[in-house]
Amino acid sequence: DYADVPLVVDSLVKTYADGHRAVDDVSWRAERGQVVGLLGPNGAGKTTTMRMMLGLICPDSGSVHVLGRPVHPGSEVLGRVGALVEGPGFLPHLTGRENLTAYWAATGRPAEEAGIDEALDVAALGGALDRPVRTYSHGMKQRLGIAQAMLGKPELLFLDEPTNGLDPPQIAAMRPILQSYAATGRTVVVSSHLLAEVELTCSHVVVMHAGRVVTAGPVADLLASDDTTVFELASV
Ligand code: ATP
Repeated sequence: DYADVPLVVDSLVKTYADGHRAVDDVSWRAERGQVVGLLGPNGAGKTTTMRMMLGLICPDSGSVHVLGRPVHPGSEVLGRVGALVEGPGFLPHLTGRENLTAYWAATGRPAEEAGIDEALDVAALGGALDRPVRTYSHGMKQRLGIAQAMLGKPELLFLDEPTNGLDPPQIAAMRPILQSYAATGRTVVVSSHLLAEVELTCSHVVVMHAGRVVTAGPVADLLASDDTTVFELASV
């Protein structure tokens, strides 16, 4: 019974039209309270896996279950999932605050469920919060995107390369944000190609290479192990 397990990924396979098998029999699961790093070099299949977990594309075979419910494009359970994928799109003439308010209004869910102020704390935009997004740096937009994904406090939060465009202190600042989010019994999945970043921000790791899971477990176990493969993969 998986009803209380936030995420179960079972035997996912995805081959693109050109015959390239981007994801080849990927299985793992995430528990409440975990910040899981999906780690691997470019082309490992992280984004493709992420898109299947979000119901954006269908696997050729295998399945994804969120809180016991199967994920497919349009699944109702995706309402309990928040995501940052690629560069988030904002309305450039609206302020950061207005963008989040407008985004939430479009979901049709009650305003009091949004937690806009808490999410905006995460974005740490200071006075820029009330300036148009077109004046923001890439890093500021990235942080606003993370805040947007957190609206409504989804049980599962997927962040695809969220630290893209952030500098090292900003990356380090992500740790307490993600850890405290997960500490409320929620689950965060973060993709990255940098071991150092996963080490900094995650409690658990799933290492992917060439469409497969190479190893998975607590970050501390990985760092303590004699297996150097991951260090070679993740320093690319
Ligand atoms: P990156 O960090 O570069 O995004 P990734 O680990 O997220 O890497 P994917 O984007 O999932 O990897 O890509 C896995 C493989 O599938 C790569 O070899 C990529 O070239 C290929 N691929 C991705 N999208 C497509 C597509 N739409 N059509 C064909 N091949 C694709």
